[in-house]
Amino acid sequence: MSDELAARLAAVNARIARAVEGAGRPLGSVRLLAVSKTKPAADVRAAYAAGQRDFGENYVQELVDKAAALADLAGIRWHMIGHLQRNKVRHVVKLVSAVHTVDSVRLAEELGKRAGDAGRSPLTTLVEVNVGGEAQKSGCSPEELGSVLAAVERAPGLALSGLMTVPPHTDDPAGARPFFDRLVALRDAHGGAARLPELSMGMTHDLEHAILAGATWVRVGTAIFGERG
Ligand SMILES: *Cc1c(COP(=O)(O)O)cnc(C)c1O
Repeated sequence: MSDELAARLAAVNARIARAVEGAGRPLGSVRLLAVSKTKPAADVRAAYAAGQRDFGENYVQELVDKAAALADLAGIRWHMIGHLQRNKVRHVVKLVSAVHTVDSVRLAEELGKRAGDAGRSPLTTLVEVNVGGEAQKSGCSPEELGSVLAAVERAPGLALSGLMTVPPHTDDPAGARPFFDRLVALRDAHGGAARLPELSMGMTHDLEHAILAGATWVRVGTAIFGERG
């Protein structure tokens, strides 16, 4: 099991390296966030043993439980990549190294306040944008982006780092590319890479297209941990 997981992790890192090279981008300019949602702590432990350090979780309770079960893993970094409710913020501020899913002024204010109260270093924060305009998806609209970015910068507990998106599903992975390009265009319209160095976009089936577009974090679950039940 853990050999198989290590092999899958290596295959994903190879995919990323090939895509980075193909895009003519510098080696190391794209990092892998291993998305472990719904998978047991033992799988995270196996990926850690194979060298992975950054893990993404979607649900607060699951993140809290897994972080506790894996508290012995030195240097592990947890990223919150699921929709975050304001009343759950206090449970995550001490555990995570980054939140990728801030999508409102009110959430930015609450997260900043709680991060400040926790006395931690400023929390790396990405703002999620709903580039596809899908009603059921979280993420702020492109029109709201400016005010959410300003709220993150105003919050003493937060460090603005970049933008994140989950594009609408398309069977053809290339179908995601226009949405990735849209996120890049929004970054350029809001201060460019100097203000927003990180772009969190691309998953198992479309990570190559995200890397071509400029992703700096790809969030990969299925290709590492297998299908979710
Ligand atoms: C589940 C999830 C992923 C990983 O998706 P895979 O297709 O399994 O690679 C990435 N990002 C977010 C926000 C997710 O919820």
